[in-house]
Amino acid sequence: MGDTKQSAAATAVTSVTEGGGPLLPTYGRYPLALVKGEGSRLWDEAGNRYLDFMSGIAVTNLGHVPPKVKEALVGQLDRLWHVSNLFRIPNQEEAAALLTANSFGDAVFFCNSGAEANEAAIKLARRYQQKVAGTGRYEIVTFRNSFHGRTLATLTATGQDKVKDGFAPLPEGFRYVAFNDLAALEEAVTDKTAAIMLEMVQAEGGIHAAERSYVQAIRKLCDEQGILLIVDEVQTGMGRTGKLFAYEHYGIEPDIISLAKGLGSGFPVGAIVAREKLREAFGPGSHGSTFGGTPIATAVVKATVETIVGDKLPERAAEMGEYLLSRLREALAGNETVVDVRGLGLIVGIECKEPVADRITAAQKKGLLVISAGPNVIRLLPNLLVTKEEIDEAVSILAEVTAE
Ligand SMILES: *Cc1c(COP(=O)(O)O)cnc(C)c1O
Repeated sequence: MGDTKQSAAATAVTSVTEGGGPLLPTYGRYPLALVKGEGSRLWDEAGNRYLDFMSGIAVTNLGHVPPKVKEALVGQLDRLWHVSNLFRIPNQEEAAALLTANSFGDAVFFCNSGAEANEAAIKLARRYQQKVAGTGRYEIVTFRNSFHGRTLATLTATGQDKVKDGFAPLPEGFRYVAFNDLAALEEAVTDKTAAIMLEMVQAEGGIHAAERSYVQAIRKLCDEQGILLIVDEVQTGMGRTGKLFAYEHYGIEPDIISLAKGLGSGFPVGAIVAREKLREAFGPGSHGSTFGGTPIATAVVKATVETIVGDKLPERAAEMGEYLLSRLREALAGNETVVDVRGLGLIVGIECKEPVADRITAAQKKGLLVISAGPNVIRLLPNLLVTKEEIDEAVSILAEVTAE
């Protein structure tokens, strides 16, 4: 027994020296510590410079340490940090007003992450069906290969088995169908269906966009059958796809969207935006969050949304996304290891025949940071202010590492 314990400790020490120290090893970490950032650039401890084409997984949409957001944050740090949601928080009301003025929505709830936003969306949909519409509906239909988060409800909503492995028993009331398959969805929907929840572009699932006619048919199905439509915009929102929100590409309006990643430019914050008819489903005491929408977080949200909308960054993302796609297609034409290059705005995937982990490390060694989306797809998520010169630099490194 004693021996077993000791060898377990020895193994633990080995992984400590490999990075992460006393942290639980929930992430496979690169042996790289980034200590400074500005715009599209990052620097490591040794002073090496990197071109960042992952933006902390679609978080730093305005680049690192964006000046206007920094100013708002520092200003708020001097005034007030926290008072609880038992008081009015003017920053929170103003941030919410910016989100509703620039979307389909009328009512906002602030939380702290994407999983929490989806958790709130699921709870709001069920509570609306049960307390306002009086249908008793509870089931949430989601899609294979989707990703909605790591809490028990949101990992259950996620259509990938690896995310659920070892966490049984899972909450009830979720059902999964193939993405972009209307017949499968029509078959899955019943008089128990409270909501359909989907990503307009499956991001973690490999950069797969929903088809326009499919999304319009889903909206119609929801309207006909009293089902709510939840769009998970945690990764696709905040200008990423070339619109402020990805649903805008589809000519429909959802009932609820969830936001997080790009919403705070790197400050942790999440939100849901919902239609007016859902407002009364979340009365006092029904849902809450101690930290949701603090004066600091919502000062950051305000500055982030003002910058994205005011500087027309979604349009810029659309233009730069087209440039990135066309440059990649040109540079990778004839490369037999590349299966497909696809994307919407500045969320772009390069699907390869083989796993891409080695190519990602090779790019890192050449000073370019990218991420995968599933085993075979290299995912590119530059910030919305990326320049053509930076895109050219990234494309030439990507051409080198995919040729090897
Ligand atoms: C990242 C992500 C989440 C989870 O967000 P967290 O902030 O990590 O909880 C949920 N949905 C989508 C689409 C995401 O990309």
